[in-house]
Amino acid sequence: MEYELVIGLEIHVELSTKTKIYCRCSTTFGGRANTNVCPVCLALPGALPVLNREVVNFGIKSGLALNCSINDYCHMDRKNYFYPDITKNYQITQFPLPLCKDGFIDMDVDGEKKRIRIERVHIEEDTGKALHTNDKTLMDFNRCGVPLIEIVTEPDLRSKKEAILFLERIKSILIAIGVSECKMEEGQLRCDLNTSVRKKGEEKLGVRCELKNMSSFKAIEKAIDFEFERQVKAIENGEKLIQETRRWDEKNLVSISMREKQSANDYRYYPEGDLGGLKVSDEWVESIRKTIPELPHERIERFVRDYKIPEYDAEVLNLSKTMADFFEETAKISKDPKSSSNWLMGDISRLLNEEAIKIDEIKFSPSSLAELIVLINEGVISNAIGKTVLEEMFRTGNEPKKIVEEKGLRQNSDEEEIKKIAIKILKENNKIVLDYKAGKVKIIGFAVGLVMKETKGKANPQIVNKIVINLLNSGNYYI
Ligand code: ADP
Ligand code: ZN
Ligand code: MG
Repeated sequence: MEYELVIGLEIHVELSTKTKIYCRCSTTFGGRANTNVCPVCLALPGALPVLNREVVNFGIKSGLALNCSINDYCHMDRKNYFYPDITKNYQITQFPLPLCKDGFIDMDVDGEKKRIRIERVHIEEDTGKALHTNDKTLMDFNRCGVPLIEIVTEPDLRSKKEAILFLERIKSILIAIGVSECKMEEGQLRCDLNTSVRKKGEEKLGVRCELKNMSSFKAIEKAIDFEFERQVKAIENGEKLIQETRRWDEKNLVSISMREKQSANDYRYYPEGDLGGLKVSDEWVESIRKTIPELPHERIERFVRDYKIPEYDAEVLNLSKTMADFFEETAKISKDPKSSSNWLMGDISRLLNEEAIKIDEIKFSPSSLAELIVLINEGVISNAIGKTVLEEMFRTGNEPKKIVEEKGLRQNSDEEEIKKIAIKILKENNKIVLDYKAGKVKIIGFAVGLVMKETKGKANPQIVNKIVINLLNSGNYYI
């Protein structure tokens, strides 16, 4: 029997506003425990929350970038539960009326377009952190009240690959629009992983299991594999799966049951009376829409369409916005997009890696790189000499033309001179001639290499190639 995996994600992302969602405490990560706290986020008696407008701005921006519609009215709700990570004993979140709803992301999965629907994006507060030691549990409330958006998908994902692709897309969009840095290692992006299995072809969804707080792609991949196997095995053994919340054990790579799934009723959601309703006007939404830049996946598509570079190149270049910007300027000036991409992805990336610096720290400009490309395309220097020039540009920041003149690197296209050198090489290497006569055509490359070496790489390789072949064919090399 074949089974199908069904996945839905609830993704929590910390927003990079300066201050918390209901008070003026700083959101800075990594400070001493309980230093970024105040009566509001500690819920001391009488302290009242005030909604941070920037959090709403960031929420709307995220919703728009994820193709959601923005509700013109919403409010905050109390989700009641008892756990020391929030001293109010309730979290202020959104329940029946989220800020944003009905979005989607279109992705390419194995050459096919696939739409993953987003049910809602709402704003809420993060909770404090519990630190469990041998005999105590310590609480740090610095994170309590840090703003979050929660993105909830429909159960539209069907594999580990789709889930990771989707998460990567969410991450790149949120980073590009500047609402979060999405550093998973700092807990800025974490998700609840909902999975179920059903027999292939069946419409009804299987019984869902929820794994809370997954915080790395690696763990998510491992957990998806584990859950698929566990649930299929249970069904095959005739066991009845229950809807439950489980915990992922990172060390032993297994999931462990925590509790039977709580339902919304258990949380006794009700509207947050200390905050009023939130009206979001069309003007507000439109003013934010204007601030959304071209998103990385849109830019990738445009690079392929407008510059005719391979999708792979477009993807690699767009791993960093500054790299993509550098490419685009170079391509425009040089009018040779593919060479621009080759230099950036090849030698320039290698040099950047060797020096452990980023593209925005590089000493030359896109117009200098374009000048180098034009020098090569016009035959002033060879591609090989181009590499030497690039290294010099990288070290000194000098203009390529200046480097070529100062170092005398101009390509030699003087046929008479090259012919003399080629004859000398053939005379000195009698074996080349004999091998060629014996039908070893590949030996041409070797001969060309020797001539190039003799000219210190400055001879025009196409001309060297032509002359060597002519000499060998004519037998006109005076041995
Ligand atoms: P809750 O808030 O109680 O966790 P929701 O009904 O809002 O529950 O669903 C949460 C997530 O679970 C959503 O991302 C949804 O797509 C996913 N989901 C719901 N049912 C299933 C299922 N049978 N299999 C896999 N995922 C599911
Ligand atoms: Zn505070
Ligand atoms: Mg959930």
